[in-house]
Amino acid sequence: MENLEYKTQSIWEKSNEKSEKTMKDFAKKYVKFISQCKTERECVDYALQRLEAAHFSENWKSNTVVNTLHGKALFAVRKGKRPLHEGFHLISAHTDSPRLDFKQNPLLETVGIGQAKTHYYGGIRKYQWLARPLALHGVAIKQNGEKVNICIGENASDPVFTITDLLPHLAQDQANQTISKAFEAEKLNIILGHSPLILKKEKDTKNKSKSDELKNPIKSNILKILNSKYGIKEEDLLSAEIQAVPAGDARFVGLDEALIGAYGQDDRICVYTALEAFLEVKEPEFTTCIIFWDKEEIGSEGSTGASSRFFEYCMQDMINAWEKETSFGKVMLAGRAISADVHAAIDPDWQDLHEKLNSSIIGHGPTLCKFTGSRGKYGANDAHPEYVAWLRNIFAEKEIPWQMASLGKVDHGGGGTVALFLAVYGMHVIDMGPSLLGMHSPFEIASVADLFYSKEAYRTFFEAKQH
Ligand code: MN
Ligand code: MN
Repeated sequence: MENLEYKTQSIWEKSNEKSEKTMKDFAKKYVKFISQCKTERECVDYALQRLEAAHFSENWKSNTVVNTLHGKALFAVRKGKRPLHEGFHLISAHTDSPRLDFKQNPLLETVGIGQAKTHYYGGIRKYQWLARPLALHGVAIKQNGEKVNICIGENASDPVFTITDLLPHLAQDQANQTISKAFEAEKLNIILGHSPLILKKEKDTKNKSKSDELKNPIKSNILKILNSKYGIKEEDLLSAEIQAVPAGDARFVGLDEALIGAYGQDDRICVYTALEAFLEVKEPEFTTCIIFWDKEEIGSEGSTGASSRFFEYCMQDMINAWEKETSFGKVMLAGRAISADVHAAIDPDWQDLHEKLNSSIIGHGPTLCKFTGSRGKYGANDAHPEYVAWLRNIFAEKEIPWQMASLGKVDHGGGGTVALFLAVYGMHVIDMGPSLLGMHSPFEIASVADLFYSKEAYRTFFEAKQH
């Protein structure tokens, strides 16, 4: 008798030596990418380079077009065989990840230590950022418009930075506080330096502002080093974006090396897999597009976020160039989209917070999430069953492992993605991506198997020939 029950299976149970090698080889390339691309700008630069190498340009007379916005968001499209009004296939992902941003007046010095003040970006658990090596990535724009790229702390010969944690000997009061009280945002100050600037004697006598400089000798030394390295002065930090991120490379995790630990996998694992899939499908039936947005972690606001008009402008340009006679609305309504974002896998140590029948198991394939939101599906894009059935069908044809899940127990939290910003156009859209352990932590964990099959799922979506 046919087994009528449904259950998912670990990809590892079905894999063999050959398929494991394929997955591992892909993972090695990903580890390189995720180790290098730690900001939205670095991510967009990487994607742009890959696309330009594949002959994408801003020229709408060609069939392969790429547009970027402020170096932080990117849209690329490849013309399909069918006309636009029959549909297009789009995958979105976001380039930004939680981190610590320098404030605009960051530098201070007290009790023998020079620090930078920060304002955290996105949903972090503050204690996870203490007592660990940090790197600084970012840009400073000088008054004359010159852009200076900053990256310190990634090479073995570079120094790193850190935020100290309180010693247990003095943590008695803190231990009795709630987490939100115990870890204050204004204590997330990053150590930048320690040694003071000593002015040479003969210079001292000539220098009128000597007393001013000596008021903050450690800060002065930090500024001197920044100036010799990057040609910037303190005022240039007003027009800078400097991000403190976990220092060092991604690593394979576990004796079997079947997991990947890295910072920023939410959502750069989807940026990478969507980009790879997009580049692999060279003659799609339907037009294929990717859009990488910034600012997802702070509500998708801002000119480079999903609530901006960037995507719309790109689509308007595309319709003008390729199918003037069709209305904007008609094309948008015919679209099919995947909001590629990570999902939370059941944590072995926090299983009670997940409703297991409807949660993602790491290694069981990319996770489809029909609805996000919280407390009665509030704020959700709830994908239509017709669309879910269509996806089931294309994945079944290519034997893509996948699973369906929702985030956490009902009324115990929840989350949102950019899906609703695509849904406003009336197109079909659903969330799909690999699930992570320790999401938003400085060391998020993904499965090598889920990584590979997310790319395969996205490729299958781009390759689909029928609606
Ligand atoms: Mn995300
Ligand atoms: Mn996130």
